[in-house]
Amino acid sequence: MYEAEITAARELVAEACTLTRRVQSEVVANADSLTKGDRSPVTLADLTVQAVMGYRLAERFPEDAFLAEEDSGSLQASPTMVSKVGELARTAISEMDDPQIAAALDRGKHPGGSEGRHWVLDPVDGTKGFLRGQQYAIALALVDCGNVVVGALGCPNLPAPGERGNGDGWIFHAARSTGAWATPCGGGDSVAASVDAIADSAQAAFCESVEAAHAAHSVQAGIARRLGITTKPYRIDSQCKYAVLARGEASIYLRLPRDESYREKVWDHAAGAVVIEEAGGRVSDLDGNPLDFSKGRKLATGRGIIATNGILHERVLEACRAELTGAPNLQARPSGRASD
Ligand code: AMP
Ligand code: MG
Repeated sequence: MYEAEITAARELVAEACTLTRRVQSEVVANADSLTKGDRSPVTLADLTVQAVMGYRLAERFPEDAFLAEEDSGSLQASPTMVSKVGELARTAISEMDDPQIAAALDRGKHPGGSEGRHWVLDPVDGTKGFLRGQQYAIALALVDCGNVVVGALGCPNLPAPGERGNGDGWIFHAARSTGAWATPCGGGDSVAASVDAIADSAQAAFCESVEAAHAAHSVQAGIARRLGITTKPYRIDSQCKYAVLARGEASIYLRLPRDESYREKVWDHAAGAVVIEEAGGRVSDLDGNPLDFSKGRKLATGRGIIATNGILHERVLEACRAELTGAPNLQARPSGRASD
């Protein structure tokens, strides 16, 4: 099932990686001349990827809806951006004109929900990482009747397994019940992706956002202490966190809200969630409930994200609960507890 969809998702994400790489290499090359806070390179990459994907998906799956982060509003204010996006988009689809670009972008306004099929796209996830010349992801998923059934996660700078820093990039892909796979961006054989089998939380590594505004680092440090984790967190931008978990380089991904009222966006987790689950792991909100992709453009029913290798999930949820309710540090309890 979903063979045509997973093939398309991989191809489209690979094409998007080529586009974003071109933009990011200019960012890195011109790092000195870019004004701090100038987001135009990431806007260019974001809008171009969404326009090209929106166009291609409409061609290949005309019946399917499209839910994506951006729209043409940010183009209207800037004729310069219109021409830059047009120029870059036409390197992929030569016949695409400016009105088609705006229309493809605005196809992404779908409200989501539990009926029918819609593709979910984050064209450039981890924009801060993109601008720093570090990690970011292109995340495409298919939601069928509220369930994520296909995901492709392009991680254009991800290094080879076991390495840190920038590398040649990988695409992670998964369809429901067929496992998770990783393919080098430059081509080559796909390898099965599977989470680690660590059962002792003190041996686990955990990953979290680089940006302190996106997750409660200090609460997460408290949870890590309760789990007996002594190594530093693996901080990495974007859904690359799901990718490193899916290939066993971390056992836990913590994303506790900084702000109680914040609800995660579906495009920030749809592709990553199916990749993790197919790699043998588990994803939930802070209360342990599965992520519900049927409620619109946000994960409206739960707070925060906990992803693990599966084995450690209940243990991590317990540590979260304890940390959030200010329970005594589990590490301080008498030794010999079976569950510790
Ligand atoms: P990351 O690279 O994992 O830190 O996450 C990047 C994503 O964080 C972006 O795609 C945003 O949608 C999302 N984001 C923005 N503000 C917040 C926030 N206050 N809490 C959690 N996520 C956020
Ligand atoms: Mg994002």
